[in-house]
Amino acid sequence: MGTSSGLVLEVWDFLRGLLRDLPDVFRKPVVRRPARLASRPGSGDPARALFDARVRHWSAAMGVSPRRVFLKNQRTLWGSCSSRGNLNFNRALADAPPEVVDYVVIHELAHLKEMNHSSRFWAVVGSWCPEQKQSRLWLRQNASWLQRRPLPKDLA
Ligand SMILES: [Zn+2]
Repeated sequence: MGTSSGLVLEVWDFLRGLLRDLPDVFRKPVVRRPARLASRPGSGDPARALFDARVRHWSAAMGVSPRRVFLKNQRTLWGSCSSRGNLNFNRALADAPPEVVDYVVIHELAHLKEMNHSSRFWAVVGSWCPEQKQSRLWLRQNASWLQRRPLPKDLA
């Protein structure tokens, strides 16, 4: 027992010596992710800047706190809201008129209050976005122009 714990201490001292003398050996490697950095706010991604600004504006107004905002090249949705409170937006929406972007942002933020498409949910959307019907119509009419993909189901 005494011998083995003495050995452990000796190994420990040796490792501590290494840590002192060669700190770089123990330092975590630097992982560079240029692709992710490229989409950070303020790094020249206009879609990212647009959605961050509109989510910040409307979440403050509506009194909700989304966790994270993701932009995706989605095929079937303009946007979505996860049960964990993360928001996803279709990157193609950045080319839509500002009021349509706002409608989709308000729609997803409203899911933080009502995680369904009940009449209560639509009342929340309508209270922040009185023009919601025009925006939904615009999304239906411009789906092919915007995406050249099948019509997204959720918001149209
Ligand atoms: Zn929805």
